[in-house]
Amino acid sequence: MKIKKNIQLIDQHDKFGFWGGKFGGNFIPETLKKPVEDLEILFKKLRKDKKFIKERDYYFKNWLGSPTRFIKLHNLTNYLGGAQIWAKVVSDLNGGAHKSLNATVHCLIAKRSGKKSVCGDTGAGYAGKMLSMAAKKFGLKCKIFMGAKDIKRQKPNCDAMRKNGAEIIPVYTGSQTLVDAVSECMRYWVSNCDTTHMCVGSTVGPNIFVKICGWSTSQISRELFKQIKKEFGRIPKKVKLLNCVGGGSSSFGFWNEFMHYDKKQVEFIGIEAGGPKKSKRHAAPLTYGSKIGILHGAAQYVNQDFEGQIEETESISAGLDYPGVSPLHCFLKDTKRARYTAATDEEALSAYKLVTKFENLSPSLEPSHAFAEAIKLAPKLNKDTIIIVNSCGDAHKDRDILKQRLGKF
Ligand SMILES: *Cc1c(COP(=O)(O)O)cnc(C)c1O
Repeated sequence: MKIKKNIQLIDQHDKFGFWGGKFGGNFIPETLKKPVEDLEILFKKLRKDKKFIKERDYYFKNWLGSPTRFIKLHNLTNYLGGAQIWAKVVSDLNGGAHKSLNATVHCLIAKRSGKKSVCGDTGAGYAGKMLSMAAKKFGLKCKIFMGAKDIKRQKPNCDAMRKNGAEIIPVYTGSQTLVDAVSECMRYWVSNCDTTHMCVGSTVGPNIFVKICGWSTSQISRELFKQIKKEFGRIPKKVKLLNCVGGGSSSFGFWNEFMHYDKKQVEFIGIEAGGPKKSKRHAAPLTYGSKIGILHGAAQYVNQDFEGQIEETESISAGLDYPGVSPLHCFLKDTKRARYTAATDEEALSAYKLVTKFENLSPSLEPSHAFAEAIKLAPKLNKDTIIIVNSCGDAHKDRDILKQRLGKF
């Protein structure tokens, strides 16, 4: 398995939709084939449509506030005494995280196809919150499918979705969580695809949703590429790009523009959620798993028991608490272009503490996992190495957990 040069990674799948011949695909019911095919055709056209690109760039800039900052963390660098630590502050975006990039593109596609509504699924509620925010901006009706159990656990995000005018559809089947919400949302989409566009909140799901999301979040590395060149005059000899990995949309978007650099020059390190130190449960299928399974219409490394049943995950960060991972990352793992590791809940909390002690930056628990790895690596390296962490979310959403676990926010 090899990565091809000069072709975008999102396009390096075979005719059946598989990356590396085995990750991704379209494991969907017959009834979904037509709407999925229609969306594939539309997206293929829109990607080449200059007016559409201009529109995307306009809203990224004038609504989401792109480009986001690229800053040096001087105090943390001095304290750790090794590699330089920098941050790409993607949490600057309207909505406080990168999910707004994908949600914006999906709403623009919906408008282009003449649809008046969007639907989407959500687990912890952030994907739903961002989609409802974008739907409100573009005057679209919005339905969010959410497990009944999650609705109880994630009240602030549900309030935010309702405030944005979205209707939350509680899902009572199965485990009453994300997995069931996805199935229910797809079922709804099949019967309403003439009027409704469906959005998947990360680089997961059937092939086309992986592609649209990866295409949208690549904005992060497009900005970063220019910012690094401006700062250093070139791409330095040793760069390490650290990003937490849940579904994998922020990390893929953070890396895409650097895909064809040698990994000795620009290394990609993905950090998954290792869960509580004392628990066997985790959300790190790339780090600890080796078995491929099917989840949400795609083949991928996924936490599963010996019978192939999807296993429950555990993590302090809601955004990383997902048993599977994007087929793009499975491909990057197998080709060895990226390396994956995990940080525990405790390590993420300590990293949050250290970053906020030294810097005026408040990363949410997801990027705190990536900072944990930066803190481990930096002292072993010298100042010629540039570590860049994607600070993809803001800790405001985690204030209750942080108060409970650290006694402060
Ligand atoms: C949703 C979320 C993630 C995890 O999703 P990816 O698709 O892996 O990016 C990470 N960080 C934040 C802040 C999130 O909201």
